[in-house]
Parts: sequence; structure tokens; C-alpha cells
Amino acid sequence: MLKKIFVANWKMNGSLKIFDEYLLQIQKEYNYKNTELIIAPPFPYINYVKNLIDTKIISLAGQTAVSFNDGARTGDVNCRMLSDVGCNYVILGHSECRVNHNFDNIDAAKTVLSALNNNLNIIFCVGEEKSGLGADEIIVEQVVSALEGVDKSFSSRITIAYEPVWAIGTGLIPETEQILDKRNLIFATLYNLGFIDTKIIYGGSVNVQNMKLIMEGAKINGFIVGKACMDSDNVKKMLEIMEYAENIS
Ligand code: PEP
Repeated sequence: MLKKIFVANWKMNGSLKIFDEYLLQIQKEYNYKNTELIIAPPFPYINYVKNLIDTKIISLAGQTAVSFNDGARTGDVNCRMLSDVGCNYVILGHSECRVNHNFDNIDAAKTVLSALNNNLNIIFCVGEEKSGLGADEIIVEQVVSALEGVDKSFSSRITIAYEPVWAIGTGLIPETEQILDKRNLIFATLYNLGFIDTKIIYGGSVNVQNMKLIMEGAKINGFIVGKACMDSDNVKKMLEIMEYAENIS
């Protein structure tokens, strides 16, 4: 069975004090063998978090990056830098970055290549803005453009996160069958491109209450979690659920 992954996307939240307490609690009696925890703090806290975690059991992700090499780009962070400070993952294509930083499908393809060249694994987010007609075309286009020019041998280093934009931070969540439907669409798209080891995870208003049903019913390999990941008790409960969920992927 593929190892499941839990991406804790802290977005623009946290402080030195908050991360101190959070990481202390999370690592207490940490014993999850089937699930990899990946923490994505805001850029200024990456190094601090790295020094507080056991990197053999918890991984570190950047929340975004640009595809460019070092140079005159005030405010930007590239994949080389994330790798340099100890990240082994980067989240790309998150809908908040697509909107706030104008990250489009062309940036996606370039940044995926740059991340792979800098030894980063990728959590690539795709998803429709509004539930309903046209969603499948949007998702397929996002997956295909992200993988443009990427060699199939990298398939296990890429994870596709299906995150319907309308479900992120809203408390709204698709029916499990709808998530399964989109997971199957993404799986078929990846398969046709020859990406057979690429994991598929779900994100959007996941919490302790709804996680088990999605995990077992939608054949996914894990989750990206925003709001509910910022409480260490929640994270431990969710890791526990994932550890023992009977998913069939
Ligand atoms: C996210 O931002 O990736 C996310 C899934 O957020 P939330 O869990 O808060 O919906």
C-alpha cells in the first residue's frame, strides 16, 4: 500500500510561540507508520520549524515558489531556496496563489520542472471554482498543463491535490461520490500520460468528523488540510483516522 500523506497547510498563520507548542504536542508519542505528515509553514518560519521537528518522521513544504533562478524579483522565493533550507516538498497551484499571485497554468508547468530539478517533491493543486458543469475540463487541463514536459520517471515525486475552490475554507464539502468521481478522472488522466505512481489527495474543509468517510469512500491517498491543521489535537486525531482507515487505493 502507498504511504498516505497529510499536508498541514498553515497558510499565513502561526508565530514562534505557536509553532513551539504545536510541534511539541504533535511529536509527543508520535507513532504513525502508514502516514507521512508534511508541514507547510509560512516562509519566515520554515527554518525555525525545521529545527523543532524530527525530519526523519515529519517533512517540510514550502507553500509556493516561482520558477525563476536567483535575481531581481523582490518578494519572490524560488525552488532552489526551499530546497536549500531543508524543504523536501513544495505546494504549487493552490487556488489562493492562482488568485493572489496570478499563478496560471503556464507558471505551473515551469515551476513543476524547476521544483523537480531542485529535488523537491510536489503537491500540485487542481480544482474547479464552482461546483457543476465544466469542472472536468478545468481539472484535466490543470493536470495536463502541470505535467507538460515532465518525464514519467518523476511520477512518484508528484502528488495531485483535488481541491474544489468552493470547498476551501467554506465548510462546504462535496459528496464522497463526487470526490471519488473527480479522483477517478484525475487517475485516468494521469494514467493516459503514463504517470502511474502519482498520488491523489483531497483538500477543502476536511476535519476530524468528515475525514474517515472521504478516506474510505473516495480512494484517495491523503489530504491537504488548512483550518483544521492548526490545532495539534485535531492533527493527532486525523493522523489516527488515516493510519487505520481502510482505503483501497
Ligand atoms: C487549503 O487551503 O489547502 C485547505 C484545504 O483549506 P481548508 O482545509 O481550510 O479548507
